[in-house]
Amino acid sequence: YAAKRKQAGSQIYVPELDAGSQESLSLLGELRRAVEGNELRLFLQPKVDLRSGLVISAEALVRWEHPQRGLVPPMQFIPFAEQTGFIRSLTSWVLEASVQAWARAEARGQALRISVNLSTRDLLDQDLPLKIAAVLQQHRVPPQALCLEITESAIMDDPTRAMMTLEQLSAMGFKLSIDDFGTGYSSLAYLKRLPVDELKIDKSFVMAMERDLDDAKIVRSTIELAHNLGLSVVAEGLETAKTWKLLATLGCDEGQGYYVSRPMPEAEFAGWLEQWQPPDLGEDSPDTVLA
Ligand code: C2E
Ligand code: MG
Ligand code: MG
Ligand code: MG
Repeated sequence: YAAKRKQAGSQIYVPELDAGSQESLSLLGELRRAVEGNELRLFLQPKVDLRSGLVISAEALVRWEHPQRGLVPPMQFIPFAEQTGFIRSLTSWVLEASVQAWARAEARGQALRISVNLSTRDLLDQDLPLKIAAVLQQHRVPPQALCLEITESAIMDDPTRAMMTLEQLSAMGFKLSIDDFGTGYSSLAYLKRLPVDELKIDKSFVMAMERDLDDAKIVRSTIELAHNLGLSVVAEGLETAKTWKLLATLGCDEGQGYYVSRPMPEAEFAGWLEQWQPPDLGEDSPDTVLA
């Protein structure tokens, strides 16, 4: 009986492990094919100035156009790519695609800065600054064309090394941004010393701020904190006109979200930008949730 149980146990355990690693292996293979075989797509989502309503930059968000599974969202392969180290190839692809997109946009007279997301592994890659510089040089694009977004958690993974890389990137002329602020554990001591220019309030707070007073207070405090540290603030998850008004009232600098536009394929961005008109939000001040 004991032997049988042991066997049953190993039957459950081993095949599961096997299946897992097989699956991982084939996913890794598929990802390689995706990069080499041109299955990745660069999507862009605009960021607007909340006072003027003008589009001032765009975030690069990657999608995988899988031949069988269709358009796969990043959360279904980015974490895996991070675990396996494949993220570095993926980041290189996104950087190259973003720099090319910027160069094409500049040729049309629409040179908007593009934000690229970096992950923990990228920050620990000592060659990253040189790699980015090489891509820019190849396409004759200035460093001011790029903003690099890093999450708090990626920085706090190895703060000393992250700080060194960020110092280097900042000295090279890139704009730096802290992404998903408020969701990771961050240290205000580090935040004070980091050479960053921008802080992005995580969408979970922004999307809830109309309904939930606590979320609205968190957004307000984050805007104050950022401004006191000399950083500009972007609100992600801007989904309604009312949220726009609230954010503007609280002094938030920029907004990004479905109310302005969902992320779209690079090819659609130029046309979208030409027809974009800042909404008329009226003169009446929004009902003050925070009064
Ligand atoms: P993120 O960098 O915080 O990007 C913002 C995410 O919020 C995007 O999801 C965007 O589509 C979504 N979003 C924007 N506005 C709204 C809104 O109003 N409502 C809602 N519900 N969502 C909104 P997406 O494109 O699915 O990307 C998810 C995450 O995947 C990104 O979060 C980022 O962490 C990661 N990611 C995407 N592309 C890349 C990439 O090229 N490299 C790396 N390392 N990570 C990436
Ligand atoms: Mg981001
Ligand atoms: Mg974010
Ligand atoms: Mg996020």
